[in-house]
Amino acid sequence: MSRIQQIISAGKPTVTFEFFPPRKPELSESLFKTIKTLEAYDPSFVSVTYGAGGTTRKTTHDLVSRICKDTSMSPIPHLTCIGHTKEEISGILDEYSKVGVHTILALRGDPPQSDPNYDRKGDDFQYAADLVRFIKNFESDSTPKGAFGVGVAGFPEGHHHTPNRLLEMAHMKAKVDEGADYICTQLFFDNHAFFDYQDRCELEWIHIPIIAGVMPITTLGGMKRMAELSAGTNFTAKLLKQIYRFQDSPEDLKKAGIDYAIEQCQGLIDQGCDGIHLYTLNQSNATVEILKQLNIKR
Ligand SMILES: Cc1cc2nc3c(=O)[nH]c(=O)nc-3n(C[C@H](O)[C@H](O)[C@H](O)COP(=O)(O)OP(=O)(O)OC[C@H]3O[C@@H](n4cnc5c(N)ncnc54)[C@H](O)[C@@H]3O)c2cc1C
Repeated sequence: MSRIQQIISAGKPTVTFEFFPPRKPELSESLFKTIKTLEAYDPSFVSVTYGAGGTTRKTTHDLVSRICKDTSMSPIPHLTCIGHTKEEISGILDEYSKVGVHTILALRGDPPQSDPNYDRKGDDFQYAADLVRFIKNFESDSTPKGAFGVGVAGFPEGHHHTPNRLLEMAHMKAKVDEGADYICTQLFFDNHAFFDYQDRCELEWIHIPIIAGVMPITTLGGMKRMAELSAGTNFTAKLLKQIYRFQDSPEDLKKAGIDYAIEQCQGLIDQGCDGIHLYTLNQSNATVEILKQLNIKR
């Protein structure tokens, strides 16, 4: 069992949080306050997103380094193929090994929406599986081979670039065969989709932990933005009924969204899911409420 798999299996249930780097320098301190608040809930790890093409290379690195230095939590930085050469990825891995990072979430990333003709010829890695292989075999003067565990993304409701759902699972399996240590899923609102995905992984002989991505809806605008970003995600009728009832009352709507996420997490835990990854959107209050109601404080 790899180090990150040991960390995940020690969680029972594993709880992890996701943050994105601050969009403006003046937001750094309030984000760090959020992170310190959530530290009390002892997550197995926290992950930090990456702007595909390196748009957040410095801010992701700065946040990850600060989490290593100023908290007891293990940060897992995301890293994308899009817009990067092998040399750039090597430099980033060396920087992370110096600050004590032990695991990377390896992603393909998406070409920028602003550039529909984005040319990927300059990218040394086409798919996440290529990046998984590179990270697993990476070594340099300052980084020993095998320094990093690797996580990968999973899509219980499919991925928009691969409508063939059998092929999609073969691509998932390729990431695992390259050495991925765990899967973290896209957010979903229908637990059946997750349980079915677990079963389909089982059928592909994928036996690494699968952590379920859960995002509480806290505003109507946020839900609409998320529907755009997570194309293909089913916003279930059950969720929409709960949310639309409170369109004119933001506080009640937020409570309804959090209640839905609590019920979803409880259902996942009851079925023995390997872990829950909460998309915090850099706010602590919804996450704290969910953890309190689930009585998860370790
Ligand atoms: C948990 C999570 C975290 C994320 N964090 C970030 C982030 O920090 N930054 C960011 O930019 N994006 C992030 N994303 C979004 C992600 O980068 C995009 O959804 C991207 O389109 C897919 O990435 P992937 O790693 O799954 O790619 P891949 O596994 O490479 O798959 C991408 C598509 O290509 C297909 N495919 C794979 N291999 C082949 C092949 N050999 N031949 C043909 N087709 C193939 C797959 O079926 C899929 O449709 C995240 C997604 C998730 C679920």
